[in-house]
Amino acid sequence: MKHPEILIIGGGIVGLTLARRLSSEARVAIIDKGFAGREASWAAAGLLGVQHENFSPGPLFELSLESRRRYRSYVEDLEDETAFVLDYRTAGTIFPIFSAEEKVRCETRHAWQKKYGLAVDWLTASSCHRMLPALTREILGAYHLADDHQLNGRRLVDALIESVRRRGVAIHELTTAIRILTDNNNVIGVETPREVIRTPTVVLAAGSWSSGIPGIEIIKLPLIKPTRGQIITAQATHFKPFEHSIFSFHGYMIPKADGLILLGSTEENVGFDTTVTVGGMQSILTRALRLVPKIECCPIIDHWAGLRPESVDQWPILGPTPIDGLHLTTGHFRRGLLHAVMSAELVSRNILTKEVHPLLKPFMLDRFHPSFAEKPLVEVDRGC
Ligand SMILES: Cc1cc2nc3c(=O)[nH]c(=O)nc-3n(C[C@H](O)[C@H](O)[C@H](O)COP(=O)(O)OP(=O)(O)OC[C@H]3O[C@@H](n4cnc5c(N)ncnc54)[C@H](O)[C@@H]3O)c2cc1C
Repeated sequence: MKHPEILIIGGGIVGLTLARRLSSEARVAIIDKGFAGREASWAAAGLLGVQHENFSPGPLFELSLESRRRYRSYVEDLEDETAFVLDYRTAGTIFPIFSAEEKVRCETRHAWQKKYGLAVDWLTASSCHRMLPALTREILGAYHLADDHQLNGRRLVDALIESVRRRGVAIHELTTAIRILTDNNNVIGVETPREVIRTPTVVLAAGSWSSGIPGIEIIKLPLIKPTRGQIITAQATHFKPFEHSIFSFHGYMIPKADGLILLGSTEENVGFDTTVTVGGMQSILTRALRLVPKIECCPIIDHWAGLRPESVDQWPILGPTPIDGLHLTTGHFRRGLLHAVMSAELVSRNILTKEVHPLLKPFMLDRFHPSFAEKPLVEVDRGC
């Protein structure tokens, strides 16, 4: 392999988005142990959920908001470049409320969201049913979150693969990073089963596998654990397909092209097991039936499972490390699609200019090890 200036380990949505951003500035390569974009990123529902996912203000919310703000033009640009249609949908998200207690939880959240000037509209049950006739009669009403959009995550992944290839990024599939190589606290390359790839800059974007790659123990990367999520796709045959995403405390239903609806999901701690299980399907279907009872007669078209990369505090881990030339963009958990655009921007700026943007700072590794921020982890003996 021609030695890249920047080598990204992991060709999921996070690695691909970063490669696209860096491709005009450097010679970039990606290695992936399997096939690019076919792990967690292939499993994602495609929600760009900012308001229905964030339950407190703060850095994670700010990161989500900035990513969402950029997403639409990012998608338009990618569509223009690749001619892929990403099915970006702007109807927004309906958040149905089943009890007074749920309403209170949402009101607390929406109170601070409104201070950010964000759109949150309460719909009575009858106006909600005019918009979404198939929705259960059990609800008290619903919130309309007009700016929580969605898109086709798999098409996004394939468009990114097309885009980075056109921009000269080499993607090496079936190529596992078995060790990250360092010398005197500097990255010097990555070992794969076939060769050593020499490079001064490595970015770890290996999703749920990020904390298992040897050679960088010194940075004390906290465990990134896989959290399995299962999804079912059904065909809307017994009711008019709806335009809005439905997201609730009892699961979600996301309309896609051709009358397909994604039903999700589960959060399971079962290691690196991507089996689709009877229990997982039962749990999703029970909740979906409660949201839209007419789904009962609809055919199931597909099902799958993926592994969300969950860090110990459920925030992504981004930016530089105590090893010079080693950077992180991992742990994106439930929001990797949403956060990929802004993570790529923040991490690439840090790689290229060493800038630590205020939005990057809270997500850096030194939040776990404050001493990293003050001094190098090891005194480097440079022999002079
Ligand atoms: C069911 C489900 C629904 C979801 N829905 C949404 C959603 O609606 N919106 C949203 O924003 N997010 C969603 N997510 C979360 C999102 O999918 C993830 O946060 C995101 O895909 C993480 O991207 P990634 O690139 O970090 O990881 P991955 O897509 O897992 O990519 C990591 C890549 O690294 C490669 N790799 C690993 N180890 C090595 C190695 N040693 N050498 C070389 N390559 C290696 C892997 O093969 C893989 O291709 C969902 C996730 C699941 C499971």
